[in-house]
Amino acid sequence: MEYSKLGKSGLPVSRLSFGTWITFGNQIGYDTAKELMVIAYDAGVNFFDNAEVYAHGRSEEVMGRILKETGWSRDSYTVSSKVFFGAGGKLPTQRGLHRKHIREACDAALKRLQVDYLDLYFCHRPDKSTPIEETVWSMHQLIMAGKVLYWGTSEWSAQEIMEAHMVAARYNLIGPVVEQPQYNMLYRHKVEVEFAQIYKTVGLGLTIWSPLASGLLTGKYNAGISDDYRLKRDELAWLAERNLIEENLKKVAQLMEFAKEIGTDVTRLAIAWCLKNPNVSTVLLGASKPEQLKHNLTALEVVPLLTDDMMERIESILNNKPQH
Ligand code: NDP
Repeated sequence: MEYSKLGKSGLPVSRLSFGTWITFGNQIGYDTAKELMVIAYDAGVNFFDNAEVYAHGRSEEVMGRILKETGWSRDSYTVSSKVFFGAGGKLPTQRGLHRKHIREACDAALKRLQVDYLDLYFCHRPDKSTPIEETVWSMHQLIMAGKVLYWGTSEWSAQEIMEAHMVAARYNLIGPVVEQPQYNMLYRHKVEVEFAQIYKTVGLGLTIWSPLASGLLTGKYNAGISDDYRLKRDELAWLAERNLIEENLKKVAQLMEFAKEIGTDVTRLAIAWCLKNPNVSTVLLGASKPEQLKHNLTALEVVPLLTDDMMERIESILNNKPQH
């Protein structure tokens, strides 16, 4: 495994990390979840990503039980949670980025994960109905209380991130060090264009999600859709509608050919392509089966194959380079 610093922070994160959206507490049982965590940890993964909303808190409970049962030393891994959507409650006090929910959500996440502190705590979406000052103060206070080590944002705009930094600078508070955006071969604008300036100014770290576009970039949907594939799930019909389109499938087919030509496969190629972006601190892997994760964890080997010439050939297949 290789490690990089998370943005301007000193925290070393493994270049490949592991997340639990859809899978833990939902699609897969406890034993598989544990097997996946162990595979990741044994491969050197040191960042495990979670959120209050994943399976309405059950994902954190499953991860907490695994962390307890394995007994891994607390200084050997980092764990995150995210606040915003709530853990199932529908009341206005049970979601958002106001001081009350941030404090209660953090305490609840610590309890479910059975840890004393979160290494990373993300504001899962911006909350336009709460003053940014209140959110920044609340995250700062969690750090001061020893409940959180670093905080970050997820799917915030560059402007919102800058506002958080301006508030932090004005009141001498600790600002966000990391953003968690979607990034993959089919979805590029935010990471490649929108954030271009703030990498230089505030020094944003990135923990990017859906590197395989929910499995589309494995090529398996080109052969049809099976009942145990993510995009067949009823609750994800909206995602299937967005991703499972002819244009994407055609690109994946061409990428499969290209990957074969350079001696790899499209799954590893897609992950390695994300790793090539120097602003990406860590690529969050998701998996529903142990063999998927074992395979994806070998993607680092493909990075050296991606020379400038090869990246240009990929660019001509993707034909979606975002304009600055
Ligand atoms: P991917 O795009 O890599 O999708 C993972 C899914 O693709 C797997 O669960 C599996 O689904 C399929 N898959 C993965 N590898 C293979 C393989 N080798 N062969 C065949 N199928 C494969 O990542 P995720 O969308 O899961 O995102 C990763 C993590 O990012 C999440 O777990 C979560 O922690 C985080 N995230 C954060 C978000 C945010 O808003 N901050 C939003 C979404 C995710 P299946 O077997 O079911 O088809």
